[in-house]
Amino acid sequence: MDNSFLLLSIIIFAFGACIGSFLNVCIYRIPAGKSIVSPGSSCWGCGTPIPFSFNIPVLSWLLLGGRCRFCKIKISIRYLIVELFTAFTAFFLFLKYGAAPISLYYFIFICILITISFIDFDHRIIPDLLSLPGIIICASSFYFIPDMSLKNTIAGIFTGGMSLYTIAFLYYFVRREEGLGGGDIKLLAMIGAATGIKGVLFTIFSGSLLGTVFGAAAIFRLKTIRKKGLDDPVSKLRIPFGPFLSAGAVLYIFYGDQLIYWYLNIIQHP
Ligand SMILES: [Zn+2]
Repeated sequence: MDNSFLLLSIIIFAFGACIGSFLNVCIYRIPAGKSIVSPGSSCWGCGTPIPFSFNIPVLSWLLLGGRCRFCKIKISIRYLIVELFTAFTAFFLFLKYGAAPISLYYFIFICILITISFIDFDHRIIPDLLSLPGIIICASSFYFIPDMSLKNTIAGIFTGGMSLYTIAFLYYFVRREEGLGGGDIKLLAMIGAATGIKGVLFTIFSGSLLGTVFGAAAIFRLKTIRKKGLDDPVSKLRIPFGPFLSAGAVLYIFYGDQLIYWYLNIIQHP
């Protein structure tokens, strides 16, 4: 491994961590309807504005042991997780695609997915403020991704938007209640814009699979809790779908072709 590669890797990782720090701000402030630009970060416990030297992504959290420098209140490990996840995303994209425009395109796409996933997880909503501009930004995929075309981009948007819409409609028709949020539909349209028809179908398939496995685990856990007579009102079964769809899309970007090849091989030669 030569030195320039190592140096570039460190720079890209640090850049990713800084963007992750900004995503934390977005995740917290967008649902609250606050500005993501000003004021600067402050401790939610004591309100002390966090000076620049204590706001270094990843390192500050580790050096301060996950506590506020001033009032020692605990700072959620999620801040660290989001920063690390974003940093590793930048690094792995660089490893897979090199320092190319396609890496930057996918990085922006995954950053929007990270923000949407955590907001959906916290509040069970996917803000239009993210998904609608996301569709427009992601529609530039045909410009950045070699095997995408404008036709595939547009087809991806409609496939994503319509497929879930159909499921949501049937669900409503049968159950007379809304099972899937309109936010999921716009999210899938955005994923379709970025990955085309193949990518969005892969995302629906793998996202549903992941969601089902997780949902079954959650139901099992809820039943165990009920058996013990500890009815826990927090674990009401409203599982957000956004994080699973996002995970499916990220899986597609890194391993989509291999997984599709592997799957087709299995069903042809069982
Ligand atoms: Zn504090």
